[in-house]
Amino acid sequence: MTTIRVENLSKIFKKGKTEVKAVDNVSITIDSGMAFGVLGPSGHGKTTFLRLIAGLEEPTSGYIYFDNEAVSSPRRVVMSPEKRGIAMVFQNWALYPNMTVFDNIAFPLKLAKVPKDKIENKVKEVSEELGLSGVLNRYPKELSGGQMQRTAIARALVKDPKVLLLDEPFSNLDAQIRESARALVRKIQRERKLTTLIVSHDPADIFAIANKAGVIVNGKFAQIGTPTEIYEYPATDLIARLTGEINLIQAKIIENNAIIANLKVPLNNMELKGQSNIVIGLRPDDLTLSDTLLDKYIDMGIVKVKLVSYGAGIFKIVVSPITDENIDIIVDAEEPLETGIETHLLAKPNKVKIFDLNGSNLIT
Ligand code: ATP
Repeated sequence: MTTIRVENLSKIFKKGKTEVKAVDNVSITIDSGMAFGVLGPSGHGKTTFLRLIAGLEEPTSGYIYFDNEAVSSPRRVVMSPEKRGIAMVFQNWALYPNMTVFDNIAFPLKLAKVPKDKIENKVKEVSEELGLSGVLNRYPKELSGGQMQRTAIARALVKDPKVLLLDEPFSNLDAQIRESARALVRKIQRERKLTTLIVSHDPADIFAIANKAGVIVNGKFAQIGTPTEIYEYPATDLIARLTGEINLIQAKIIENNAIIANLKVPLNNMELKGQSNIVIGLRPDDLTLSDTLLDKYIDMGIVKVKLVSYGAGIFKIVVSPITDENIDIIVDAEEPLETGIETHLLAKPNKVKIFDLNGSNLIT
């Protein structure tokens, strides 16, 4: 398999007199067999980065190496996308509507003039791997969303690529089947040890598939790490929001406690030199509501239940400190609570995140 190395890579688009730095001086290595995920806000360079790796865009400056061979150099695509041994799956899947599933999957082999019997064997093999054996004679319009996506993946894999590039591959799927589609891609990626780059705005896509992830902001990687590192220790409040639901609340530091109205979070052992105002980050699943203190939690103080809603197996409970009902805090709960009641807000102390007022994490 292939190691991808990117060195000082930039891509600048010119729009009239203005320049857009879509990718800004990025250097990164994606090891052979690794699944690397790229997260980021809309318009910050995720797709451009993937298209540069694919060879669909030429860099403005910098280099891309596949196993030490320069495949792109400044203003030049040295090796074409076809020769790079890459396969791509896009958001819209781009199936040929007038071809059957079999012909869609076989298409890249036909283009490469592979003998007919070999094509049949190979299509049979990948369609079994992807659970498509029963629908090979159907046309795309006769398929479910999941089957269409698996056909697109089968077509991408039929030439045994060395690198798999996925751009928002699950966003056209219904929520119910997205989870199984992610699991399937993860299984194939791990079994084939395919060097993979997946780009998505949805952290669940990245966390399900990637061994390592990067968050791209303004064309630069603002943080790179394992999915857990990025989720648990986000370098900024923006990354905290991009990686999952989080309450970001302004707090005052008084005697080594973060104070939010009547609520208090002790900041033992955290060195917050000279900070008197901070932003505290609390993920809803690191909070709970209880009248008694629970093991592994600290008591933040009394809150009032404002709103209760149910979704996907959990209750979302919006609470406010009793002395300031303008502050909303979302808590995940297994049981509903009645609106208007007062109870204690508990937090897992080792999961509390502290940011300065500019959004930088103070304790990573
Ligand atoms: P999204 O999540 O919305 O797809 P993204 O993070 O993938 O966004 P890109 O599509 O890479 O972002 O775009 C990065 C920046 O480059 C944007 O400002 C975009 O408008 C600009 N851009 C991308 N492609 C072109 C192009 N061909 N010509 C001019 N500007 C472009």
